[in-house]
Amino acid sequence: MQKDLQNLPSETSVTGLIHHPYTPPAGFEAPQPGVFKASTVYFPTVAHMRQREWKDKSAYTYGLHGTPTTYLLEERLCTLEGGLQCVLVPSGLAALALVALAVLKTGDEVLIPDNAYGPNKALADGELRHFGITHRFYDPMDPQDLSRQITPRTRLVWLEAPGSVSMEFPDLPEMVRRCRERGVLCALDNTWGAGLAFKPFDLLGDGAGGEGSLAVDFSAHALTKYPSGGGDVLMGSVITRDAALHLQIKLCHMRLGLGVAANDAETVLRSLPSIALRYAAHDQTARTLAAWWQKQPQCAQLLHPAFEGAPGHAHWQALCDHAPGAGLAAGLFSVMIDARFSQAQVDAFCDGLKLFKIGYSWGGPVSLVVPYDIASMRQAWPGHLKQGTLVRFSTGLESAQDLMLDLHQALQAHLPMA
Ligand SMILES: *Cc1c(COP(=O)(O)O)cnc(C)c1O
Repeated sequence: MQKDLQNLPSETSVTGLIHHPYTPPAGFEAPQPGVFKASTVYFPTVAHMRQREWKDKSAYTYGLHGTPTTYLLEERLCTLEGGLQCVLVPSGLAALALVALAVLKTGDEVLIPDNAYGPNKALADGELRHFGITHRFYDPMDPQDLSRQITPRTRLVWLEAPGSVSMEFPDLPEMVRRCRERGVLCALDNTWGAGLAFKPFDLLGDGAGGEGSLAVDFSAHALTKYPSGGGDVLMGSVITRDAALHLQIKLCHMRLGLGVAANDAETVLRSLPSIALRYAAHDQTARTLAAWWQKQPQCAQLLHPAFEGAPGHAHWQALCDHAPGAGLAAGLFSVMIDARFSQAQVDAFCDGLKLFKIGYSWGGPVSLVVPYDIASMRQAWPGHLKQGTLVRFSTGLESAQDLMLDLHQALQAHLPMA
């Protein structure tokens, strides 16, 4: 060992490669920020190491606690959603789990809307239950049911607008008001709105999240969807406007060892500038296809909150459509296929689509389709849903005309009316 080191020519020594004297000049600026990757972060002295604070973004201590790349993404996401603090986690589901683990303790209860993102229900029925945290489901379309279910043990209420499969849009401001009145924390899964369709920290549109405005306590976002926009990154965020609540999230985040990869943060930073344009394009295509579906006799019910007659349409209008006609919605909708068709026929219709791929998640360039079994997902069949087989579509960035032709050919082939 000793001998090998002695034989190394000094000009090409490994040490010289590791402790290289060259530092590039400061002042490089370009459209895309640099990517900083680190586990270890250096301190100039032991004193600096002992003093350095990481909880408020004033410095760096360890890769898991933040780098210039993750700080930058956190700040830009705060701007998107109207929040003040943000933490990044490895998936949207991890964002939901982090909120739960940070604020709930044994003996507490969490209320979840019956149409919630399925894995959030599974978390409550798995880990949370094992920790002695109970949960109950409330009717997302009935604020009185939410009030009835809040007890002194209720610590957290989850909100989703709309439910991501059956697409009912709740009276979000009213739900938040009821949580406030009862002193219960409320967390919104803001993946559908993405910070664009409405502002989670300024639900009445009167205060930009400042004093007196109606706001959720936590906005959890699956960045996997629109902020990524590529179908190639898994990431989540938890955004707050309260320093104490943020600290609770931040400490739990640190103790659980959660973090995101710099290259993934870079990909989301690359996609963020186009999110509003992409969101509007997904929206427009979804509405074109939804309007087409409404005219097909195979469609027993169209579930898209921007359409008259869809569950919660008036609530979507009130929250997202301040200037009539200018309201935004995600490129996501469901169709209840008439009950005369069997599950096998509906499956064959999905299989018969060529441009729509079969797959979970959404927000990328490729249109997706998934049939869902509502009966197994809800406590009981909701009164506002017609009988049938639900198929959810998420529109990508293809031409609406091409997507419509694809739907038409699969409908003719597999769900004939005659
Ligand atoms: C996709 C999704 C999530 C979870 O995001 P992942 O990154 O896939 O874990 C959570 N909530 C909603 C509404 C979603 O659509």
